[in-house]
Order: sequence, then structure tokens, then C-alpha cells
Amino acid sequence: MRKCIKCGEKAQVYLPQHRLSLCKQHYLEWFDNRVEKTIKEFKMFTRKDKVLVAVSGGKDSLSLWKSLINLGYDADGFYINLGIGEYSQKSYELAKSFSEKVGKTLHIVSLYKEIVPIPEMRKYDSRPACSVCGTVKRYYMNKFAKENGYKIIATGHNLDDEAAVLFSNTLNWSVEYLKRQYPVLPEEDGFIRKVKPLCKISEKESAMYAVLSGIDYIEEECPFSEGATSIDYKMFLAQLEEKSPGTKLRFYSEFLRKMYPILKQSEEKPKLQPCKICGEPSTNEICAVCNLKMKISQKEAKA
Ligand code: AMP
Ligand code: ZN
Ligand code: ZN
Repeated sequence: MRKCIKCGEKAQVYLPQHRLSLCKQHYLEWFDNRVEKTIKEFKMFTRKDKVLVAVSGGKDSLSLWKSLINLGYDADGFYINLGIGEYSQKSYELAKSFSEKVGKTLHIVSLYKEIVPIPEMRKYDSRPACSVCGTVKRYYMNKFAKENGYKIIATGHNLDDEAAVLFSNTLNWSVEYLKRQYPVLPEEDGFIRKVKPLCKISEKESAMYAVLSGIDYIEEECPFSEGATSIDYKMFLAQLEEKSPGTKLRFYSEFLRKMYPILKQSEEKPKLQPCKICGEPSTNEICAVCNLKMKISQKEAKA
């Protein structure tokens, strides 16, 4: 029987990459400490900042929100109803009931009111659903945070997400993306600062935190994410991790420590301008979301 290294009680969790056995209470503490350390390491925010946590109803974003509350940060939630049938309905209910349980505000934006639901959006944009969805989510997160006095947007991206993106960007030598792969995107040109406090926490670790904290979360993946290449990269990295625990964390942390500072020196910032219609930052005169809205109204006028 493994024993908790802190108190000697029966361990509930074993973390091979850290060679740590912990009981429930000490695991929850370990997780909160790791989140706190990451926030400090990358100077993400302080207890004076108003943080908006983007919650999807999944284990990562709800664990993040819970941990920030435990740590005494001023954190409200933000949920975008993507209008993806039962998946959205269920994730909304879980995010809502969590917010009620912790007594924090959950702000909600519904795509069917703002634009059109994701399944319908595919008719107007030929890119894969996940790309369109990502663009729309980033747009509304930024706009909402700015209009409501939040200085920081925190997302639940975890180590597995970041390592998979890093792996894909490295395989393709997407240098321009690598230059921006950092857990803090600073506030500039109309963008609010965006942070990823779970970047050094694996998917399994955040799932264990959710379960041991009694958080009810949506286990299903978004139906549109099926077949995404990032899933193959995650599986491949999981195999390496299984053989050699710590590989994923080393791959990501050492990129940030050794490679990112070199790449950043030659970063060319994209030229941004306020969108002529909505004023949000954009690389073109009209931003991607306003463009989409125009396409939708043109199609509707023809129909
Ligand atoms: P995903 O792109 O689905 O892996 O989600 C990455 C992060 O984006 C999550 O951890 C959340 O912080 C945020 N997010 C995803 N979906 C939503 C949503 N519907 N509403 C608000 N935030 C979301
Ligand atoms: Zn213990
Ligand atoms: Zn616009």
C-alpha cells in the first residue's frame, strides 16, 4: 500500500512523473499549490485583479475555477453557449450548477442570440468546425471581458493540450505559432491578457482534482472534435509518457525555458486595427466575426 508522503495515511493518488503519493487532502493542496506556483512563475495575475474564467463545463476549466477560488483569487465564470445540441445543454447545466454551488457569478453569452449556433455556422465558413469555433470563442471572451471590467481571461488549457500543440507546431516547423506559444498572451492592441494556469497540470491530474473535489463535469468531448489531429498527437505523447513518466512535462517546460526566449527575439507582431464594424482588434479592416455575420445576412437575404 502506498502512503501519502505528507501524512502517512493511505494514498489515493500516485503521480509517477513527480514520484508522489498523496492522500485526498494533500493531493488537493498539491494541485492548488501547483496552480499558484504557475501563476507566480509566469506573472499571470495577482489577488487584486478581476479574473474571468472561461468555463466549458469540462474537468479542466471547472477545476481551474475551483482552485482559483480556493486560492482566494477574484474569479467569475464565463460560459459561451455554442448551441451544439445536447452537448451544449448538458455542459451549460453543469457550469451553472457549479457556479451556484460555489456562489460565484457565471456570465453567459449565447451564440444563437449573437450570431448563429456552431452547427449552422459551418454552412457559412469552409474551415473545420473547431477553427471557426475557436475564432468565435476568442472573440466573445475578449469582447465580454473588456466590456465588463475584467483584466484577465483564464482558460483551462492543460499540459496535454499545450504539449500536443507544441508537438504539432514542431512537426510542421510552424515557427510563427511557436513564437506565440506561451501561457501568457499580454494585453495589447485591444486584446485582454489571456492566461493558462493549468499549463503544467496534466489532463489526468485535473480529472482527479475534479473527482476528489466532488465537481460534476461533462465527460463527453464536443461532437465536432472527433477526428481532430490533436487527438492523435495526444495519444502518441501518452504512449511516450507511459514508457517514460515526465516526458510531456519536460518537452513543454524545456521549450518554455530554452527555446521560447530565443524564438521570441525575432517575433514580428501582426499589425492590428480596430474592426470598422465592431471595434474589436483585427488583422483586416473587418474582423472574422463581423465578416461571418455579413455572410449570414447576405445568404438570408437571398433565401
Ligand atoms: P477546448 O478548446 O474545448 O479544449 O477548450 C479550451 C478552453 O477554452 C477550456 O478549458 C475553457 O477554458 C475554454 N472554453 C471552451 N469551451 C468554452 C465555452 N463553451 N465557454 C467558455 N469557455 C470555453
Ligand atoms: Zn496526506
Ligand atoms: Zn468586427
